[in-house]
This record gives sequence, C-alpha cells and structure tokens, in this order.
Amino acid sequence: MLKSIDFSTFSSIRIGPRVDVFVLETPQPLPKNHQLIGGANNLLLGPTPPPLAILSKAFDFIHVDNTLLHVGAATPSGKLFSFAKKHNLGGLEFMQQLPGTLGGMLAMNAGLKGWEIFGPLLAVRTHAGWVEKSDITHGYRYAKLPDVVFEARFTCKEGFDAALAEQFRQMRQNQPKDSSLGSCFKNPEGESAGRLLEEAGFRGKQYGGMAFSAQHANFLVNLGGGTYEEAVALIQEAKEAVATKTGIWLELEIKILNIPAPF
Ligand SMILES: Cc1cc2nc3c(=O)[nH]c(=O)nc-3n(C[C@H](O)[C@H](O)[C@H](O)COP(=O)(O)OP(=O)(O)OC[C@H]3O[C@@H](n4cnc5c(N)ncnc54)[C@H](O)[C@@H]3O)c2cc1C
Repeated sequence: MLKSIDFSTFSSIRIGPRVDVFVLETPQPLPKNHQLIGGANNLLLGPTPPPLAILSKAFDFIHVDNTLLHVGAATPSGKLFSFAKKHNLGGLEFMQQLPGTLGGMLAMNAGLKGWEIFGPLLAVRTHAGWVEKSDITHGYRYAKLPDVVFEARFTCKEGFDAALAEQFRQMRQNQPKDSSLGSCFKNPEGESAGRLLEEAGFRGKQYGGMAFSAQHANFLVNLGGGTYEEAVALIQEAKEAVATKTGIWLELEIKILNIPAPF
C-alpha cells in the first residue's frame, strides 16, 4: 500500500515535496533502495528524495507484560510518555516534549543531557526476530540498528519521577518554538555546537525563510516559506566557517534525504 504524504506539513521543519510512501503493514525487510522514515522530526527532505517507506499504525501500541514494557516502533513519543506517567512507570521521563516515533528515537538514540532511549531499552524486534541491546552498537545520537525495528522491549520499573519530568520540561523552555528539527549538528567531544556556531557569527544568520535561530544557534529554523536550498546553503556555510575558525568539522545530527545528496 502507498500513502501520499505532504512533507511541507508532515515534517517538523515544514519542508519537502508530496510523495507516495510505501507502508510496511507487517514485519518485513525494507523494499530495495527505500529509506525508512518515522515522524520526520529529524529529516530534511530535498525536492527529489529517495523512495520512502513508513510503518503502518499496526505498530502503534503499548502493553505491559509483568516487568516488561512492549512498544510498537510507530508509537509517538508523547503517547509513550503519557502512558508512563499514567501507569506510574519510571525511566522515560526524558521523553517529555521530545518529538518522534519510537523507531526514530531508537535509530537516533534520542535523548537529553545524560538520558537516552538506549538506557531503559532491552531488545528490539526486526523481521528476523529479537536482537538484544548488547548486540547493537550505539552511542551519542546514533545506533547501528540491525534492520527496520518494528517493536522494542523496555525494563518497566515502578515510579514515574514527576520532578525529573518537570526538569526536562524546563530544559525545553529555551528552545525556539519555530519549525525545526531540533539540534542541527552534534556536539563535538567536549564542545558545544551551538557555541561554535555562535562564535562563527551564525546565531540569527538568515537566508530567505531559513535561519540559525537567534534564540539557540544550533537550531536551524524555518521562519516561514523556507526552502531546502536555503537550508543546505546555511549548513554548508556554517560548517566551513566553523572549520576555518576552529579546525572542527561539525557533524550533522539531522539527516538529509535527497538524490543527489548535497554533501
Ligand atoms: C523541537 C525539536 C526538539 C528536539 N529535541 C531533541 C532532543 O532533545 N534530543 C534528541 O535526541 N532529538 C531531538 N530532536 C530530534 C528528533 O526528535 C529525534 O531525532 C527523534 O528521534 C526523531 O524521531 P522520528 O520518528 O521523527 O524519526 P525520523 O526523523 O523520521 O527518522 C530519523 C531516523 O530514524 C530512522 N527510523 C525511523 N523509524 C525507524 C524504525 N522503525 N526502524 C529503524 N530506523 C528507523 C530513519 O530511517 C531515520 O534515519 C528534536 C526535534 C525537534 C523538532
């Protein structure tokens, strides 16, 4: 089955064409040459993206089985956060206002400060079966998932920490409200990408409708009518300026989907 998705409204940065996306209804390998998407909260789509696939709603579920939490990979993070809060489960408080689906969070090892999704994770399920966390290479904002993930298992400990959730909510207060993909670049070891961008003069730098936010330099924001071309030009210029000034080549945290790739 194909689903028509308009990425200018679906993606969190509000950029991209309308395309037909292949829907995975059952656990199966990704069709050849296809790129999987989750909620597109970390994806910048160009005008000519590769063929895309998405999980069906059949993988949007949560259930508790004794001490284990089973979650479908299409489940939105907000739904999982609310479930943990309602059922007094601890360990997922960092998902407060962290947009995405479980699959996208796992692929990015999404998190905030010292907290990340691989913390409470036990195992993921691909079309070929369950894979334990210890068999998956992962680190800061990346995970080498063995294949498309359809479901994951988490430790399910009692005790939702409302004070911790409130701390995460407050950490989000200084983030721009404009359309974005969250942090554009990863923080280099021992450095802050935002600080490097700021020192290179990119805080508030704008091309057309796109800018590095005046509020938070590492957020590439769409101020209205921004385009893929403007976003790529800003990214390219920022990378070069920071490298010239510091010798550090910033690595993208966001993923760009276009053929040909811009970098
Ligand atoms: C306002 C804002 C704030 C943000 N704050 C944070 C933050 O604090 N911390 C943080 O880590 N991120 C943050 N992000 C980025 C984003 O929320 C995360 O990267 C999130 O995990 C993306 O999930 P998604 O479902 O939208 O994935 P997508 O953006 O659709 O995809 C991301 C990657 O996941 C892969 N993927 C998706 N589903 C699956 C699956 N089922 N199996 C295998 N691979 C899959 C895709 O192929 C792609 O490579 C923020 C984004 C926004 C817009």
